[in-house]
Amino acid sequence: MKGKEKDRFWERIPMQELSEKQWESLCDGCCKCCAYKLQDEDTEEMVFTNVVCKYLDLEAGRCTVYDERQKYVPDCIKVTPQNATELEWMPNTCAYKLVANGEPLPLWHPLETGDPRSTMLSGNSAVGKVISEDTIDLDDIEDYVVSDDYFEQVHKTD
Ligand code: SF4
Ligand code: SF4
Repeated sequence: MKGKEKDRFWERIPMQELSEKQWESLCDGCCKCCAYKLQDEDTEEMVFTNVVCKYLDLEAGRCTVYDERQKYVPDCIKVTPQNATELEWMPNTCAYKLVANGEPLPLWHPLETGDPRSTMLSGNSAVGKVISEDTIDLDDIEDYVVSDDYFEQVHKTD
């Protein structure tokens, strides 16, 4: 952000006191949280797949039912200041998780760059790396498990 000092509100205001606008702006729009996750029954380890919820617009990288998402997907988590520290399964780059744990935002985060496209331009969006649940047999979901750094890599599914 050139020309004026950034208001690094996420570093000076406690999460519970952020305005709704500030809270929403923390989301980097990566869409990684819309990917199916699987948990190992024995170790409880959580792994990501490259299969996403059918309500994600795969081109725009936006939820098509955002305001009513819990009506359509009851387990779609609404991140709040209260639960932000408990969401261990969220991607490690999730800004809510980082800020809740007192960690800095990545340099590619739109609040750092001033460019809303910087998540995608830096290769940190799930867009282009995922397929919709509508296109697979969900009984085969284990075939779609990806590595921990899959969403940080620059590659495409097509
Ligand atoms: S993982 Fe976090 S930062 Fe990324 S889209 Fe989901 S809520 Fe937003
Ligand atoms: S309902 Fe929307 S926000 Fe929730 S997982 Fe699906 S696409 Fe993502």
